[in-house]
Amino acid sequence: MAVVQLNGQSIRVGNVFCIGRNYAAHAAELGNAVEAEPLVFLKPTSALAVEGEPIRLPAYSGDVHHECELVLLIGKGGNDIPESAALQHVAGYAIGLDMTARDVQGIAKQKGLPWTKAKGFRSAATVSAFVPAERLADPGHLEFTLQVNGETRQRGETRLMLFSVPAIIHYLSTVYGLSEGDLIYTGTPEGVAAVKPGDRLRLDLQGWVSAEWSVVE
Ligand code: MG
Repeated sequence: MAVVQLNGQSIRVGNVFCIGRNYAAHAAELGNAVEAEPLVFLKPTSALAVEGEPIRLPAYSGDVHHECELVLLIGKGGNDIPESAALQHVAGYAIGLDMTARDVQGIAKQKGLPWTKAKGFRSAATVSAFVPAERLADPGHLEFTLQVNGETRQRGETRLMLFSVPAIIHYLSTVYGLSEGDLIYTGTPEGVAAVKPGDRLRLDLQGWVSAEWSVVE
């Protein structure tokens, strides 16, 4: 059973939604155009790795990238949630990694196939503990960082999202419906790169919460 922590309580995770190409500079670094509506993909809950679990590189990839992202935990579910009420549905905010087998994703893109093998392997979705939403009034002005072995590799500012947190919640709730315990990975800024066994990845959400993972073979 996949669980995350909020206020010292364990919350059972439902769906794991992810948004792709939500920062213009990241879309550009991979040679992708930005999307007219949110690009959504899903990860299985078996992909989750909380702090303390290692990131295991899948044997079938030689190019696994880090993608550091703001992660939302849905509290109250709903359908057709208006943007004006969207933040009331967030129970907490965390920092996490959308680990991506870039070589496998490249083949999938070429063939027009789903990204699941590239994005859904075990430990492909790391997530920190959650900061209660009531402590964090404005997710539109957050900064976050990823350090690899002490060197800053990614620096994100949520104000640069192409689809804001309320816009994402509105969209997902309209198309799929949102339920308590759902997670939403909101997209990565530029600076994605490959990791290797032995790397230590430290993520920080503007001092609110930080977490660290080690990469193993
Ligand atoms: Mg991503």
